[in-house]
Amino acid sequence: MLKRHISLKSLNTFGFDVEASMFMPVADTEILHNVWKTNLLTLNSPLILGGGSNILFKDNYPGLVLQNLIAGMEVVKETEDHVWLRCGGGEVWHNVVMHTIRHNWGGLENMSLIPGTIGASPIQNIGAYGAELKDVFENLEAFDMWYGKMVTLNAEDCAFGYRDSLFKQAGKGRYFITHVTLRLNKKPTVNVRYGDIAATLEQWGISKPGIADVSRAVIHIRSSKLPDPAVLGNCGSFFKNPVVSKETADALCTAHPDAKRFDQPDGTAKLAAGWLIEKAGWKGFRRGDAGVHEKQALVLVNYGNATGAEILSLAREIVEDIQIKYQVTLEMEVNTR
Ligand SMILES: Cc1cc2nc3c(=O)[nH]c(=O)nc-3n(C[C@H](O)[C@H](O)[C@H](O)COP(=O)(O)OP(=O)(O)OC[C@H]3O[C@@H](n4cnc5c(N)ncnc54)[C@H](O)[C@@H]3O)c2cc1C
Repeated sequence: MLKRHISLKSLNTFGFDVEASMFMPVADTEILHNVWKTNLLTLNSPLILGGGSNILFKDNYPGLVLQNLIAGMEVVKETEDHVWLRCGGGEVWHNVVMHTIRHNWGGLENMSLIPGTIGASPIQNIGAYGAELKDVFENLEAFDMWYGKMVTLNAEDCAFGYRDSLFKQAGKGRYFITHVTLRLNKKPTVNVRYGDIAATLEQWGISKPGIADVSRAVIHIRSSKLPDPAVLGNCGSFFKNPVVSKETADALCTAHPDAKRFDQPDGTAKLAAGWLIEKAGWKGFRRGDAGVHEKQALVLVNYGNATGAEILSLAREIVEDIQIKYQVTLEMEVNTR
């Protein structure tokens, strides 16, 4: 049902006090077909909202916000080694992860506790602790808002990259992702190579971890490092880790031997954006209610009444400063509206 002038304050994890001119909860695909028959989608720049954990509203949204509430999880195929789980796009990502852990289906454990919905997970090919959505992705179903019909897209169609996909490029604003199907491992092996997972498990005296142990470790580490949006408004990492040429990385590491770099198979290098921002002196910076988190420089925070425009202005200052100091261009991970 179409609603007007709805507050989005509790629907975005920055907690910005903005409103949508029009708002419609979408619990099934039929609603999308029906709305398409009107001119609502063509005339009102529809914005799809999941958990609001990767979106920065600069101001009130003057168009139509479609909130994805499509629920459900079902096994659609099974072999001796794998299971294919089809999920409604409005399902909370972490609930899906917990569901798979309970069944001992491997693949999502390193991505425990990422906020948001599974319907949004392909947008930036979410990832954490050495795992990415694309590793377990089978396909997605989406409502094509240009042509008013359902389509199925596989991994190749989605053009997944590092925090990137078709949906941030040529397909931006075109598809409403209604379902995602994941391919999970019934005989899981664990990956504890990233971050502090191995150290945490060792500290807990776990020498042969299963996926439930890895998930617990990831939850423990994330909870100690990242601010809880329920307590302090934020969208997680505000910037992507910049991927630069070998020459740029070499120059940076020569000047700053403590710089963090991760060499990529294609010869480029990924730099730690958090390290650059911290090194440049921004960690813990605060102007009004907009700030850089005191423990994690990659996270911009809203201490209460900051606006999206204020956070964005701070982000731009940081980008400019990093460019001047290190000749590295930071790119935002968060979507702005
Ligand atoms: C504390 C914190 C930690 C985080 N950690 C990580 C992390 O480790 N790794 C990581 O990758 N991300 C992380 N994020 C970012 C965020 O959780 C993910 O990007 C998540 O996938 C966003 O889901 P959402 O439902 O909240 O999307 P929203 O914020 O609602 O939307 C994000 C974008 O996707 C679009 N969109 C949403 N749903 C759909 C749909 N069904 N169809 C089409 N377009 C859609 C929106 O229009 C918007 O452009 C973190 C965020 C927070 C707050």
